[in-house]
Amino acid sequence: MECGRLKEDSSRPLIVVSRCLGFGRCRWNGAELFPETVAGLKTGLRFIPVCPECEIGLGVPRQPIRQVVSGNAVRLLQPASGRDLTREMENFSRSFLAGLPPVAGFLLKSRSPSCGITDTALFADRSDTEPLEGKNGPGFFARAVIERFPSLPLIDERGLEEQETRLNWLREVGARKNSEFK
Ligand code: SF4
Repeated sequence: MECGRLKEDSSRPLIVVSRCLGFGRCRWNGAELFPETVAGLKTGLRFIPVCPECEIGLGVPRQPIRQVVSGNAVRLLQPASGRDLTREMENFSRSFLAGLPPVAGFLLKSRSPSCGITDTALFADRSDTEPLEGKNGPGFFARAVIERFPSLPLIDERGLEEQETRLNWLREVGARKNSEFK
């Protein structure tokens, strides 16, 4: 499946968005999402859709991946295939973020091992059925976003559902519109 590319448009704020949030059928199970909160932003913002898992060559549909503790590190594993995708995801994230034009913020998919910003599950072992309690955090791509652009407004689709969180994010996006953050 082809992944998203920059949509040419006017000077409206430019946002990097998880592609599965209404920009393409790229979820692991092939399902489509059409969050109304995201759809409502399309007239006021421009978007760069990206699916990190698609970009590292995982197909649609695909076997799920997960974050697994390994010593002092966290690995990105696909239990069904035994693949360790850590390096591919780190390399893609670094390269993609380095190649961005100036953007005003990020809108990512919650709970994803790649895109989740605060609530991605962490597993003690690749075969565990339950995640570690109280250890949720960012996914691999989101972590790279936070490290490279720590001051850029970042939200997930769940945050958009909370009025105050959404308005704060939009205010920050508006304030940073097309500034240089690289
Ligand atoms: S959450 Fe991220 S990696 Fe997963 S399908 Fe959506 S865009 Fe792709």
